[in-house]
Amino acid sequence: MSKSQNRNTIKKKRMKIFRKVKNSDSIGSVIASFLLLFSVSALFAFIGGFFVEYVLESKFSEEYSKIYTVAKIYEEGKTYGDILTVLNKTPGDFIIEDASGNRIFSKGKDTCSTEKNDLVLSNGTEGYIVYKDTENDFLFPKNNGNINLNLRELWDMLDKAKEDSLNLPLWISVDAGGGEQLIGKAVFSFRRRDIVLMGEIVAAVATVVVVLGIIMLISIITAFVKSKRVKALFYEDFVTRGKNWNYYLVYGDKRIHGALSKKKNFAAVNLIFNNYRNYCLCHSIAEGEEYLSKVNIAITRELGNDEICAHATTSNFALLLRYEDEDSLMRRLRGLVDRLTHIEDGHNFKFRAGACLLPADGTRRKDIFVDDIYNNACAAQAAISDSDDNPVKIFGSSLLDEQKWENTVQERQWAALKNEEFKVYYQPKYDPRNDTLKGAEALIRWQFSENEIIPPGRFIPLFEKNGFITEIDHYMIAHVARDQKAWLDKGLKCVPVSVNVSRAHFVEKDLANQIARMVDEAGCPHELIEIELTESAFFDDKDAMIQTINQLKSNGFSVSMDDFGAGYSSLNSLKDMPLDVLKLDAEFFRGEDAGERGEIVVSEAINLAKKLKMRTVAEGVEEKEQVDFLAGQGCDMIQGYFYSKPVPKSEYETYM
Ligand code: C2E
Ligand code: CA
Ligand code: CA
Repeated sequence: MSKSQNRNTIKKKRMKIFRKVKNSDSIGSVIASFLLLFSVSALFAFIGGFFVEYVLESKFSEEYSKIYTVAKIYEEGKTYGDILTVLNKTPGDFIIEDASGNRIFSKGKDTCSTEKNDLVLSNGTEGYIVYKDTENDFLFPKNNGNINLNLRELWDMLDKAKEDSLNLPLWISVDAGGGEQLIGKAVFSFRRRDIVLMGEIVAAVATVVVVLGIIMLISIITAFVKSKRVKALFYEDFVTRGKNWNYYLVYGDKRIHGALSKKKNFAAVNLIFNNYRNYCLCHSIAEGEEYLSKVNIAITRELGNDEICAHATTSNFALLLRYEDEDSLMRRLRGLVDRLTHIEDGHNFKFRAGACLLPADGTRRKDIFVDDIYNNACAAQAAISDSDDNPVKIFGSSLLDEQKWENTVQERQWAALKNEEFKVYYQPKYDPRNDTLKGAEALIRWQFSENEIIPPGRFIPLFEKNGFITEIDHYMIAHVARDQKAWLDKGLKCVPVSVNVSRAHFVEKDLANQIARMVDEAGCPHELIEIELTESAFFDDKDAMIQTINQLKSNGFSVSMDDFGAGYSSLNSLKDMPLDVLKLDAEFFRGEDAGERGEIVVSEAINLAKKLKMRTVAEGVEEKEQVDFLAGQGCDMIQGYFYSKPVPKSEYETYM
């Protein structure tokens, strides 16, 4: 699987989780609740409506059958002669219309208007023709063909009539044979009790619907609030209570790729609170975390539109900032770091920030994710050393090259060791008083390709970082011992060669034995090997150091302190360490330290070494005057370009 495929799978997996959280807001359950509410309400409304309609229609049927009976009597009676006399004796008010619509008979008070309409019963099949009553059209069906009953109006009518029941008329037309119609007055009597009953049913239905509605509304709101809380928790940082790394990943990518913001300039920033661990040690973790949340608030306050601040890990903050140009971003970050440094009186906190700019061109962005540029920002931050005055660094091509180089070194180191790509160069040390060869220092070179030799400054620090340095130290000692033995066998006049041993090596308890074993394997006398320890190593475990030095010495090796005077004062370590050789750092002979005052220091250092019975080697000497001066001060050896650069062993051989 290729690198980018790999990356996309990770991204996809991640987005799946984020989507799950996003979908935790229960849109589905909200919709389901609404549907349920709707159907239950409809059911109850239907039942309520059905009941009212049933009451009404049963009244109607009753009235209809009365009129029907009359119509049938009339129809039958027509053949027996004086039917109208019979009709006059028949109870109820009615009218008879002939086929052409003329009213040929009426009994009772004729309040039937000519306005008629169809009435359809709820079963949907039975249709009737009804006529409006001129005195009361309350029950007269309007456009939809149904009798509409407005309980409220009915109640008001009852109230107005001050009665316990109300008779409402509607004229119903029944076919009476021979094209004639008998239109009878139907009287719907409503008692107060009927209305109360119907009202109660309607109210009950309404109550059920309202209660159900409220319950559902509450459950919808709680589901909504809950999902909001889940989402907030997912993006909330436990320590700062601000945004967390998840938020940075999701919303950072949204900003970078979003339709509205993808044309804007963004920079990922890694801001680190340097001495956080220390602060927690001296105070407490709780206080440290409180301070982190203060930092978070302070940064967040300075954020503009589309910008993000999230707490990434212990003392790291991940920011996504907008910028105009590199300079202004640099100024802004420096200002921010400065303000954070003074966030609390009485403390001097240290902050550092690394940034990585995103190209403004939106089209090239689709393959870049926020964690990619944040990673670069971290690399830029890590490249700031404690001694740097500028606490802000922007990731650039040189840093990228450095990173790539680090990778290459790591990938090739073992093969290089096996293939003997590492070459031992020798830099001779001369006695300045008589220019005779007194010793040499073995210095490593990497034959990277046929005509590319890489100096140690480019890989030794990396080996020190990745631990490979111990292999290198062994390799160098073994090779130097072998070379010395070969030269001895050739009958050359061998002088001691010093080998650099890294401080990482000094934690190993049996270092002296390891070295002795290697030198013995090569058959080289111990006095031809000298071990150089760098000055800064003397600050580690002093007792272990003294023990190792003593063991080396009792094995017959000389031990020298390298780079004396380069870093911190090491007079104190001189007092305790039983060293043989003091190597004065090249800095003494360069730059501002050189000159009269420098000479005083050098001559005193040589005196001091002499009193402590140590030999002295002056490193990095390039000028004749320096050689003369050192000779005058009684310096034992000089190692510098004045005599020779480090040279391959074949050339060094000629010096012997
Ligand atoms: P170092 O041990 O202080 O070695 C002396 C350095 O000064 C060498 O640089 C040498 O070439 C340089 N030098 C000597 N005389 C002069 C001079 O007159 N002028 C100038 N400008 N430079 C001079 P080099 O070989 O590049 O080594 C750099 C450092 O790398 C060494 O500093 C040492 O710390 C480390 N190193 C080299 N080889 C090894 C090794 O085999 N093992 C370990 N652990 N470190 C090594
Ligand atoms: Ca050295
Ligand atoms: Ca040195």
